[in-house]
Amino acid sequence: MLTTPVLIVGGGPVGLTASLALSQQGVRSLLVERHPGTAILPKARGINARTMEMYRQMGLETDIRAAGMPPRFGKMILWAESLAGNEVKRLTPGRGSPKNLVTSPAANCGCSQDLLEPVLRRHAEALAPGGLLFSTELTEILPTEDGVTGVLTNRVTGETGRVLAKYVIAADGAHSPLRAMIGIERTGERDIYDSVNVHCRVDLRPWVDERPAALYYIDQPDLRATFLTINGSDRWGFLVHSLSVYGFSKENLPPERCIELVRQAVGVPDLPVEVLGISFWKCSAMVADKFSAGRIFLAGDAAHETTPSGGFGLNLGVQDAHNLAWKIAAVLEGYADPSLLNSYDAERRPHATDVVKATYLNMSSLKRTERQSAPKLPRQEYLNEQGLVFGARYKSAAVLSDGSAPPRVDDPVTEYVPSATPGCRAPHVWVEHKGERLSMIDLFGRDFVLVAAPGGAAWREAASRQVTPRVVPYVIGDDVVDIDNAWMEAYGVVEGGAVLVRPDGYVAWRCRALSPKPASALADALKILLGHEAAVRAA
Ligand SMILES: Cc1cc2nc3c(=O)[nH]c(=O)nc-3n(C[C@H](O)[C@H](O)[C@H](O)COP(=O)(O)OP(=O)(O)OC[C@H]3O[C@@H](n4cnc5c(N)ncnc54)[C@H](O)[C@@H]3O)c2cc1C
Repeated sequence: MLTTPVLIVGGGPVGLTASLALSQQGVRSLLVERHPGTAILPKARGINARTMEMYRQMGLETDIRAAGMPPRFGKMILWAESLAGNEVKRLTPGRGSPKNLVTSPAANCGCSQDLLEPVLRRHAEALAPGGLLFSTELTEILPTEDGVTGVLTNRVTGETGRVLAKYVIAADGAHSPLRAMIGIERTGERDIYDSVNVHCRVDLRPWVDERPAALYYIDQPDLRATFLTINGSDRWGFLVHSLSVYGFSKENLPPERCIELVRQAVGVPDLPVEVLGISFWKCSAMVADKFSAGRIFLAGDAAHETTPSGGFGLNLGVQDAHNLAWKIAAVLEGYADPSLLNSYDAERRPHATDVVKATYLNMSSLKRTERQSAPKLPRQEYLNEQGLVFGARYKSAAVLSDGSAPPRVDDPVTEYVPSATPGCRAPHVWVEHKGERLSMIDLFGRDFVLVAAPGGAAWREAASRQVTPRVVPYVIGDDVVDIDNAWMEAYGVVEGGAVLVRPDGYVAWRCRALSPKPASALADALKILLGHEAAVRAA
């Protein structure tokens, strides 16, 4: 029987990222994907800035941007009666505004899923040779005393085998067979509208070159569709909305009819169009009632299904994997109590619930589920969700409150004020380290990191006494230059203070001024954060 510390079920963007994040933590995993390769349809294209920060920490940012669409296409969305006909409206998403761009060293990136996944796969396979099995389906799961046994079937040869894992990540998509096997239910709106995603080769440059956009909404009395930019020239996604409302169905939409609809939406009856793929799907807005059961963790669409209005599905899932990987590593390496894993549900489910609600409201405001020809402009939050992208605040046992609260904002969906309040994403500040200009967040990703303000050299000694987990210290003004003299304000500490950042880039603990006993203060904080105190209390 095969054995692996972590079995990942599903080789979509979330499973692939889980493999990468576990390798980054030095944990071996086995990923099984029932298809022979990565996605063949474009689906998601909007990789938000927070997700790009994570890929930046994993060293993938350059390759993903190289695979993505020309950046000029990411700056606008547009409504028209047809591409060749009347233009109705243009909108500039607030996420790309200069005010929002200073939040992060990594701008968002347009890269369609069929181009992103091969990049993820290539890096994942390089870090875990032999750790990804395609054409391999998990067909059964059997809990054992100290792990989980999965039954695997090779879809080419029909051979079956077993794998014994300590933990399982179910990244097996919205219809998650694993979620069904372990009996986790979901709450929310199911099958809100039906749609078809047509992947096509068609040269649209004459109508888009002068007005590059990420989305071209087409509104006609008998057709509501969207062109999804992939390369900005001859490869496009074409989404037809609310099929049944307009009398369309899987049966009456063969490729020839899809070609006619593309031509109708462009407004050029004899335009050469080739259909590369067709995928019928239904939009739902649902969240699993819990994100784990025993040793099995749901991640990505298996845990939450968002409407595509806002481009959050893939991003939420990638961030789930990033949240979970270091916790599983900490438990497997023996420096955290298994109760640390409870913080995965406590941190990710409330955030997923907020995102699912916001994208549902985006979708409703676009009014594309109703039969009407006039376009309806979306609510102002749509594509302005800076607060949801960066502002998740975790409240769990893996965060130690210092009694402070992050700055209050009027609208947590659109507004983000950087804050190092425990539970928040550690803010981006430009620094210089070893002669290199970096973002503060470039120093996070593998270990716990303790950043001390000027005058906080004693924290370096405190960190060096910490054997497991390893804590990497930096002292501002010593080995890190605070280029804009912004660090202390951004991190909310005075001279001698320090901030402990988790491997996923979230603030775990903050000591605003120098502690009289830095080593024991740090050791005590870690003991609580890693679940050891709770374990002693429970014993
Ligand atoms: C039209 C459209 C546009 C979208 N746009 C965006 C966007 O702009 N931004 C964004 O963030 N999101 C977007 N999304 C959502 C995004 O595509 C999904 O959220 C994302 O694919 C979820 O990734 P995942 O890895 O969780 O699941 P999936 O991509 O569904 O992958 C799950 C994988 O698990 C495999 N699997 C299932 N069961 C088993 C099993 N038993 N054994 C082995 N393998 C198994 C499946 O074959 C599949 O490959 C969009 C979706 C659509 C449909």
